[in-house]
Amino acid sequence: MNGSGIYFPLCAFPFSLFVVILFFLKGYIKHLETRIYKVLLILNITGLILELLCTYASYIYSSFPIISDLIYKSYLIYLIAWPSSLAYYFYCISRHETEYSRSRYKWFFIYYIFHIIIIALLPIEAVIENDFQTRYTTGAAVYYTYFITTIIMLFMIFLILKNYKQFRSKKYIPVYIFIILAIISAIIQYYRPEILIMTYVETLITVVMYFTIENPDVKMMEQLNEAKDQAEKANNAKSEFLSSMSHEIRTPLNAIVGFSNGLVDNDKLDSESKEDVKNIIMASDALLELVNGILDISKIEAGKLEIIDTYYSFPKIFDELVLLTKARLGEKPLEFKYSYDKSIPEYLYGDAARVKQVILNLLTNSVKYTNSGFIDFRIHSIIKGDIVRLIISVEDSGIGIKKENIDKLFGRFERLGVEKDTTVEGTGLGLAITKKLVEMMGGKIVVQSVYGKGSLFTISLDQKIVTGEELEKLKKEENSKEESATLIDATGKKVLVVDDNNLNLKVAERLLGAYKCNIECITSGFECIEKITSGEKYDLILLDDMMPKMSGKETFDKLKEIPEFSTPIVALTANAISGMKEEYLKYGFNDYLSKPIEKGELNRVMKKYLR
Ligand code: ADP
Repeated sequence: MNGSGIYFPLCAFPFSLFVVILFFLKGYIKHLETRIYKVLLILNITGLILELLCTYASYIYSSFPIISDLIYKSYLIYLIAWPSSLAYYFYCISRHETEYSRSRYKWFFIYYIFHIIIIALLPIEAVIENDFQTRYTTGAAVYYTYFITTIIMLFMIFLILKNYKQFRSKKYIPVYIFIILAIISAIIQYYRPEILIMTYVETLITVVMYFTIENPDVKMMEQLNEAKDQAEKANNAKSEFLSSMSHEIRTPLNAIVGFSNGLVDNDKLDSESKEDVKNIIMASDALLELVNGILDISKIEAGKLEIIDTYYSFPKIFDELVLLTKARLGEKPLEFKYSYDKSIPEYLYGDAARVKQVILNLLTNSVKYTNSGFIDFRIHSIIKGDIVRLIISVEDSGIGIKKENIDKLFGRFERLGVEKDTTVEGTGLGLAITKKLVEMMGGKIVVQSVYGKGSLFTISLDQKIVTGEELEKLKKEENSKEESATLIDATGKKVLVVDDNNLNLKVAERLLGAYKCNIECITSGFECIEKITSGEKYDLILLDDMMPKMSGKETFDKLKEIPEFSTPIVALTANAISGMKEEYLKYGFNDYLSKPIEKGELNRVMKKYLR
């Protein structure tokens, strides 16, 4: 081998040099693959230099045969070293090896020394003919090199076959190119040994590798994508966990709330038992609040909480807040003062539920942390065009907050007054959620407090004012809502409820009882399908989603396959994650009810499908 094809290495040299400069100038990630690639690069440029030197060696062959042999043999060693390193590179990728292993390098070192010794010992002969026109080397050392490189190629083909699926990735394009080109160049070498193409092919592969997989930018992107994928996976796992947690906790809570509410009005109970039931209701309400709080904060952190703006009646919300606070005051000797600017327009546009939630949290806190004196709840306003700025303030004469604690106030799970008053229940989530929600709605919250004297929390929040046509429409809607608050009489209609949990079925049965319809309860999707296929007819099906063996969605799919089946199906789920309703409607369900079933929502559904 080795001949007059000096033009190939000459052409390849600038490219190899260019990639070497780029690689070292741009910097690289210290990854195992990249380390091996670095070796490939250095070997390649060394190989090109050796190949060029071989031309020089043929000129001095007759006068300095030892020096010429040394150059020829060094080049042969290169011809083994480069494909060996490439094979190792792909071996590491296929096994996802990323760690640098010292012992492995020791073996590599021994491997090279072994070949160096063999090649050094075997004879080599230069063939120089046609007045230096035809030059190549032959002899045992050359055949040995051919033999080893063939084995390396076979090893690479074996690697590909073994990891077929993995090697379909774009990452492995260089290895395919190499195998194809190496076979072509081996054939060329066989017939025309003076044409030296091998190192040229290797340079090509090195360059292709740089621009496809070993470029620092590509590597960085790859790592970023990997990190992104992992983060997404973790986030999805968290959402899934949340969704199942909310389901698991809300299902039994649903039953507790439903049954306790049913018991309060039960005349058979004595007053002591009724008191106990009231306590159960209070505790389950607190638990529900806690579950919702955890869900809220997790949703906010996962970026999944949405602000849903709708039109709402401001005085209605204010009255509700006052009522709720009065209920929470209980026996506490507190003076509760409240008022709002009468200039605030009646209808506003914003996320009414969240507005109510943040204010209620401040009011609840002031009740919790004030033992005597007053609570003053006021809403002032500044109107600018079609925007009203609500200045909501909640002042109390309670325990107050130490100056050094004010900064910590809005942190998660921060409870500051506990050392002084351990009897106050709380989680330390309320203000963290309040602040995040206020900010998401574009508002601000500030606190002023004197320890031992009291606190003043102020929220400023912009809401749109509703006027003109929208206002008319809203008023009409309000009227029709009032009308729809009355229960319908569904006598003669048949409703099928499917839920694997018996307690849930009983709660649903009780709620549906008010509509005088026929209610049938079953505990699995299989039974549901059986009933429909056997010809039973219903006017409405309430179908729980999370059931073992066959989920609500699977049952839904099977039902839809039944010819002429057209009963409306309402998804029933304790999954409180936002976006669930849309998901079920998109799936094809006619409607959605979340558990614990709200009377108003149930009423809406009953009217829509059973009137
Ligand atoms: P929680 O009330 O559940 O503990 P919050 O996040 O609502 O959690 O409040 C955090 C902490 O801030 C409370 O534990 C309490 O120490 C303090 N705090 C909140 N509101 C008041 C208030 N009106 N007066 C005194 N301390 C308050």
